[in-house]
Amino acid sequence: MSLADKVLKGDVQAAARLITLIEDEGLTPGEESEALKEMEILYAHTGKAYIIGVTGAPGVGKSTLTDNLIGYFRKKEMGVGVIAIDPTSALTGGALLGDRIRMQRHATDPQVFIRSLATRGWTGGLAKAALGAVHVMDAMGKDIILIETVGSGQVEIDIVKAADTTLLVLAPGAGDEIQMMKAGILESADIIAINKADKEGADRLKADLEMMLEMKPQKSGEWKVPIVLTEAVNDKGTAELAEALKKHQDYLKESGGLPERRRERVKLELMETIEADIKNMINNLDNGQLMKRLIDAMEKGKCSPRSAAQEISDRLINREG
Ligand code: GDP
Repeated sequence: MSLADKVLKGDVQAAARLITLIEDEGLTPGEESEALKEMEILYAHTGKAYIIGVTGAPGVGKSTLTDNLIGYFRKKEMGVGVIAIDPTSALTGGALLGDRIRMQRHATDPQVFIRSLATRGWTGGLAKAALGAVHVMDAMGKDIILIETVGSGQVEIDIVKAADTTLLVLAPGAGDEIQMMKAGILESADIIAINKADKEGADRLKADLEMMLEMKPQKSGEWKVPIVLTEAVNDKGTAELAEALKKHQDYLKESGGLPERRRERVKLELMETIEADIKNMINNLDNGQLMKRLIDAMEKGKCSPRSAAQEISDRLINREG
């Protein structure tokens, strides 16, 4: 039985293997075609899951909150997939495993599939890998897929924006809201959770955010971003948050916004895939010698970046022609 067939039957090991293949695509030559072949089969079985992007600065409580949401959805008998995008620590070279550790509560539940993707210090292909993992979990039959990321890099921002619903998590005293606003995340948030509501300043932060949101002109019938107070460590506010997520899902269905979001996601995936493919092609021109020769020439000042790029484009066009 192919990996794809096993995934369609809900086989967790096959799903994990396939996600690894997708993640390694482009890094290990030769394995690409295998992942591609399996994904071609799976693609026709996707599009059913509801995708939620969870973002916020490190330490605000995303993982604890995600863990609570998993518990909530499981009580409703829904299958849940989680993709945790771990920033790779430059010091340790490894992914921060905190996310997975905090979600251990559900590790033995066969209806919960949690997978970490490391950024590995390179952003290329991250969106492709994350969305690939979404397809695998979707094809497995997961009803809800949560993508958790700190949302600091552009690619991570693109990923959360490409979700059906974007949940921004803030905490009092962290002062992230200004940072998030600058990064444009605040304006793409569909729901805001103020976590650590047990701490001082939560109500104040809520009032500040409400004021900020009210400055945005609101069209009639347009979604109004709700702000939900949560205490993730005490599993407080989880039901309210889940209800807000459901309301947004209903709103998207009624307003016709859902296909629009999904179209954005497809576009992002296409662009990322094209980018990865073209980079691969370029790196393989003359078995990698062309890149080496052009970089050497540029280093010595014998060739400008523009003319090097032109030579590469010409070669790619001729290759295809
Ligand atoms: P993440 O980095 O955003 O995923 O945050 P975590 O979920 O790992 O939480 C970071 C820390 O904040 C942990 O020590 C949690 O126990 C703690 N934490 C999470 N939620 C709350 C909360 O509601 N109140 C308080 N006081 N601490 C919390």
